[in-house]
Amino acid sequence: MDKQENNHFNNYELSDTILSALKVLGYQTPTEIQKSVIPVMLSGANVLSKAPTGSGKTAAFAIPVCENVIWEENLPQALILEPTRELTEQVRDEVFFIGRLKRLKVAAVYGGFPIDKQIQTLKQKSHIIVGTPGRVMDHIRRETLKLSQVRWVVIDEADLMLDMGFADEVKEILAQVPEHAGISLFSATLKPEICRLTEGFMQEAVTVACDAQQEEEPAIEQKLYETEPDDKYDTFIRALKLENPESAIIFCGTREMVNVLFQKLRRNRIFCGMLHGDMEQKERLKTVNAFRRGGFRFLIATDVAARGIDFKDITHVFNYDFPTGRETYVHRIGRTGRNGKTGTAVSLVCEEDLRMLKMVEEFTGRTFEIGKCPEVEQAAEKKFWASQRAKTEVKTQNGSGFTKEIMRLSIGGGRKSKIRANDIVATICSIEGVEVTDIGIIDIRDSLSYVEILNRKGALVLEALQNKTLKGKVRKVKSVRAPGMI
Ligand code: ADP
Ligand code: MG
Repeated sequence: MDKQENNHFNNYELSDTILSALKVLGYQTPTEIQKSVIPVMLSGANVLSKAPTGSGKTAAFAIPVCENVIWEENLPQALILEPTRELTEQVRDEVFFIGRLKRLKVAAVYGGFPIDKQIQTLKQKSHIIVGTPGRVMDHIRRETLKLSQVRWVVIDEADLMLDMGFADEVKEILAQVPEHAGISLFSATLKPEICRLTEGFMQEAVTVACDAQQEEEPAIEQKLYETEPDDKYDTFIRALKLENPESAIIFCGTREMVNVLFQKLRRNRIFCGMLHGDMEQKERLKTVNAFRRGGFRFLIATDVAARGIDFKDITHVFNYDFPTGRETYVHRIGRTGRNGKTGTAVSLVCEEDLRMLKMVEEFTGRTFEIGKCPEVEQAAEKKFWASQRAKTEVKTQNGSGFTKEIMRLSIGGGRKSKIRANDIVATICSIEGVEVTDIGIIDIRDSLSYVEILNRKGALVLEALQNKTLKGKVRKVKSVRAPGMI
């Protein structure tokens, strides 16, 4: 295959449904890591994959997994492990989008969310499970998640997942997966030694590394300002005003500090949101969704947002508190400069941070200059407040292309009224001009069902169903939002 040819997804052995989904998502050219990973995983081999933040690792594993999954099989065939709840949601959405036209069911399983609802979801066919280790283990113990048919395991953010906090649970899960299942590891900071941690579980893996130099280095400009702990807030405000970011994540070392900074900024009428592990899960998701939509410019967060989270067009990352791990530095600043864009990272450095800074320098192979944060001239001050008053731009969502093509309908009635997928298919196919190929994912709950109508025929079906019977009754049918659409 020559280079030119390799530049399109249709050069891989992918089915039309997957290719069409990639088209709707706007993925035309595979990224470097996708070029390396997709053929290897399609062939059934394991990969150990290291590629910079924002280089498209999710689709690199999601595409071959979605391709290889067999629709007819009822038990989960792929398990994707993620370190945080927010990342689980994000990756579930991406896998769901890629597999959507193949009608793949993708379930997200994480803590802080009613377990009963998840159990209901898992009771149905789920082709792919995306989850955090704790909750996945919980479902395994309750026997609500069966791994006997799993053929692919992906450990995303693998260096963190195989690190102390998580390793035991991850290994416990791996021990439940059939021996012949493939295990692939992904991260931006992944050393081949990490493989040793999966010894006994993992067969040989093909190491696929994309050079960070090519994609990452020029993408993120890194600035460091010295400060004293007592002056930190003032230094930060100066830096914030000078940079006047369109959209930024501000990292703090602790939940308390996130709270304190949030209150302080609000008192100064700088509008922002916050995210940390002490918040209710509902609030966490609400904040993430609002930030994704562009509802506010600045998100103050702990390292719960450091890994993997893909917010569109983050122009700046601030290290209000310097990270306490060298990998964390790379992951935090990697929230900007994603997917071919550029970004700026500003770190405040106190004397006590110098040791960690040295370690970051060694780790990234770069030396940094620490400067003094300049004063803010009146013009810059004015400009900052003008931007604060200006409306933020509404950001388009990944997968928004599907909304034109697909309508998701909710139907009153489910398992309790003995409705089965076949009944729904039969009723919908009896509508003139609608065929079975126009029907996407069907999801049957206890007293509610969902069905996706493809090929822009949603409105037609919605109207026709208002007076058609399903299992002897006219049902309440409405158009509803799909997962991932906020
Ligand atoms: P990583 O896991 O490597 O940090 P992600 O998988 O989160 O990166 O992807 C970063 C962004 O790039 C996402 O917004 C994703 O939608 C986008 N993306 C991925 N692959 C492609 C592609 N082939 N073409 C265009 N955009 C892509
Ligand atoms: Mg990722």
